[in-house]
Amino acid sequence: MSIAENLARVQALVLAACRKAHRDPASVALMAVSKVHPVESLLEAYAAGLRLFGENRVQEWQEKSQAAAGLAGLEMHLIGPLQSNKTVRAAELFHAVDTVDSARIATRLNEAARARGHVLPVSIEVKLSAEDTKHGVSPADLPALVTCLAGLKHLLPVGLMAVPAWPADLANAGEEARPTFSELRRLRDECRKTIPTIIGLSMGMSNDFAAAIEEGSTCIRLGTAIFGERKNAGN
Ligand SMILES: *Cc1c(COP(=O)(O)O)cnc(C)c1O
Repeated sequence: MSIAENLARVQALVLAACRKAHRDPASVALMAVSKVHPVESLLEAYAAGLRLFGENRVQEWQEKSQAAAGLAGLEMHLIGPLQSNKTVRAAELFHAVDTVDSARIATRLNEAARARGHVLPVSIEVKLSAEDTKHGVSPADLPALVTCLAGLKHLLPVGLMAVPAWPADLANAGEEARPTFSELRRLRDECRKTIPTIIGLSMGMSNDFAAAIEEGSTCIRLGTAIFGERKNAGN
C-alpha cells in the first residue's frame, strides 16, 4: 500500500476513535515517525499532506534534512533519547524536542536555544514502563524536573510524552497500554498546575493509538501504520 493509502486508512480510524470518545478530531495531531525509512518516504508523506514528523536520532535527521530542506511547514520533532553532547545540534535541527528527561539535558538545551536566540518547545518524556529500553524521567522525579523547567526561559514546556511497555499480546496493545495512558494524563494534570502550558499528551503508536485517543492523546506518533514495517527495530 502507498503512504497516501495508509494515511487514508489511519485517518478513518482516528475519526472513529474521536467519535467514540466524543472528541474533536482537530485536537489530535498525527505525527509521522520517519526514522529508519529513507528520506524519499518522508517526501512522499509530505506530498500526501503530512507536516508533523518525528525522528529518533539527531545524526539520522541531520543526514536526511538536506533533502527535506525548503519543505514549507515541515515540523520535525526529536522523539528519541538525547545525549548531552548532542543538545546543540538538536536545538539547531529540530523544531521541538519531545524527550527531555533530566535537568541536565534541559539546562543544556536551554543554553543552546538561548545562544540561537529562540525558544524551543519541549515535552517531558516520562518512564512508565520497567523495561530497560524505555527512557524518561521517573514519575517520582517529575516534579523536580518541572520546577527546573519553570526557570528555563528559552524552553517552552508544552506537554508530556510516554512509550508504554511492549505488549504481551500485540492484538491487545491498546488495552494493555490504557493504564499507562491514563497515568500520563493524570501526571499531565499535575504538571499543569506548575506550568500551565503543559497541555499536550504525546501518546499512542501504530498498535495502540485508538486507545490513546480515548485516553486523551493530543499527538499520536505513527511509524509502521504510515510507512510500513521498518527494516530494523529502530528503537
Ligand atoms: C518508533 C517510534 C514510534 C512509532 O512506532 P510505530 O509502532 O511504528 O508506530 C513512536 N514513538 C517513538 C518514541 C518511537 O521511537
